[in-house]
Amino acid sequence: MNSTGRIEEKGEPDRAVVAPVVPTPGAAVRLRPIGLLRNKIQDGMWATRRLVNHRVTLHHGAAQLEAAGNLFNFELAAGAAGSYRGGNDESGTTAPFLDSDVYKWLDAVGWELAQSPDAELLAKADRAIELVSRAQRPDGYLDTFFQVLHPGKEFTDLAWGHEMYVAGHLVQAAIAWKRGLDDERLLRVAERFVDRIDAEAGPGKRELVCGHPEFEMSLVELFRVTGQARYLELARTLVERRGHGLLGEGRFGSRYWQDHEPARTATKPAGHAVRQMYLDCGVVDVATETGDRELLEAAVRRWEDLVSTRLYLTGSLGSHHRDEAIGDPFELPPDRAYAETCASIGSVMLAWRMLLATGESRFADLIERTAFNAVMSGLAFDGSHFFYSNPLMRRSCGAEVLEGAATTRRAAWFPVSCCPPNLMRFLACWPDMIGTVDDGGVQIHQFATGSVEAPVGDGLVGLSMETSYPWEGTVAITVEHSVAEPWTLSIRVPGWCSHMVATVGGAEPLVASGPGSLVLERTWRAGDRVLVNMEMAARTTLPDPRIDAVRGTIALERGPLVYAVEDADLPAGGSVEALEVAESPRMEVVAENAPGLGETRSLALDARLRRDDEPSGWPYRGSPAAAAPATTIEIRAVPYFAWGNRAGLGMRVWLPTTKTPDDGC
Ligand SMILES: [Zn+2]
Repeated sequence: MNSTGRIEEKGEPDRAVVAPVVPTPGAAVRLRPIGLLRNKIQDGMWATRRLVNHRVTLHHGAAQLEAAGNLFNFELAAGAAGSYRGGNDESGTTAPFLDSDVYKWLDAVGWELAQSPDAELLAKADRAIELVSRAQRPDGYLDTFFQVLHPGKEFTDLAWGHEMYVAGHLVQAAIAWKRGLDDERLLRVAERFVDRIDAEAGPGKRELVCGHPEFEMSLVELFRVTGQARYLELARTLVERRGHGLLGEGRFGSRYWQDHEPARTATKPAGHAVRQMYLDCGVVDVATETGDRELLEAAVRRWEDLVSTRLYLTGSLGSHHRDEAIGDPFELPPDRAYAETCASIGSVMLAWRMLLATGESRFADLIERTAFNAVMSGLAFDGSHFFYSNPLMRRSCGAEVLEGAATTRRAAWFPVSCCPPNLMRFLACWPDMIGTVDDGGVQIHQFATGSVEAPVGDGLVGLSMETSYPWEGTVAITVEHSVAEPWTLSIRVPGWCSHMVATVGGAEPLVASGPGSLVLERTWRAGDRVLVNMEMAARTTLPDPRIDAVRGTIALERGPLVYAVEDADLPAGGSVEALEVAESPRMEVVAENAPGLGETRSLALDARLRRDDEPSGWPYRGSPAAAAPATTIEIRAVPYFAWGNRAGLGMRVWLPTTKTPDDGC
């Protein structure tokens, strides 16, 4: 930021692709990223949230990493006096992965600075990079937990020690700084640590597997950045080595760390949600760089099982608190949802890789659903409070939980703070997912006001996009400059969209319904304009009857957004637990402005608010109870991601339906 408070934009885009995932020219992918400097978001909801990330969240992260001791631990590893700090969980055990929060923050800052230079942020990052560099041992080893607390025990507790996981985040941060800023300081550090790990656990060495996947995808990216095939070979080795029980049963069984079955053959997602997502990111990366179709298809099979049986409506995953696991098919309780922010971000990272590999719009659909709902609920409008767990219901009468992962209000930080810096890097990288290229032209996957510049043939084509998405379904795409030869413009038809009309100039309108893509091929000239209109009516959604926990309820959706009702919008004393709505309620879309968010849309509908009596001693009976007295009121539903930014505890996505619709609702 300069002294006027305005974020400076970087001038001329670099020719190289500045993005977290950049497959090599020989990789087996259908689509190629164009990166953060050629996909720009300039206005609208994402612009607002990204600006808050830049101005508030990243600085908040620096302060929290300082206060919690994560940064100080690097000073200790470099020889300073003092005690290891931070990250005690409920049992008082010091987490072994605290370094990764610093790396994830640096990862976010690297991508952000590549797009918007900021001297103050750069100075904070410079200090962190200096600390990290000084902490590295002469032999390349770098993990403050083992250096300070357990010297001599390196690589002795692969199941829980997280050394490769931590290294993976270091590598990803290094890639952000190299690709985004052509700064190799972290890359030199990362390569030395990876070489140390390779010497210990590489092909033909000790058969070690990390209890938390993450390293694999970072190694493939390190191969892509450096051209060093040994990094790809190490990634491939680690993917193949997992699934043979090398990690043992641990506290939660070998499925917890996806060590029960090889990634090549496992057909279902299993165990810890973030671990499964990160593992499959690495699996897809290895598969695309080695041309291993069988490996890719195995990951896609697991993804299909996940999407068809184990995802919450918001796109989030993980219904077990105890082991943060994905859970069984249709085991999706709304109030007990764990739905970790990191798992949703991991799911977006995975779907992005699958989109690049296959070109199939269903992956962009899930990216959209997850990003708008599950991921964005993790961050308060103020930019400095976070949800770790993102349930689909909070009881009004429930106890407030202010510590640990399942806080009922967003917290400024957590003892294990994986989610906040993950949100920071997610927002920094989000523009990457707008558009891609293939040999035939440009694909628009996500809608936001901004611009896309893409290499087509021997030249560059430039598009501008104007929209108030997700609030309205109109998108105007204008060709700003083009190349002489014809090329295709593909526009995703979202899975939620049953009627999309596209008009190019005075031509006959094209009509499409999701899911898929609308493909327009022609010789494009500067000034050509495509007007897209997606019908965006409010709609009701029913759960599969096998999701027992929400049987007899409906959810409200509009466009890509899932809606929720909060206590804050009910009359004083009302609670979301006492609400009932008609099976097909009439809904009115209301344009509003929300503090901290700006333009938004809420849904107005009628509901019955029961006046439940006090508990009668036993909450079960042999026959249906007489209907409790109720009043009909108008309620508001707000976008799910916006919940918890006001007073009041209660919130629910799934609304019970009343069987007596003749009372007017
Ligand atoms: Zn997390």
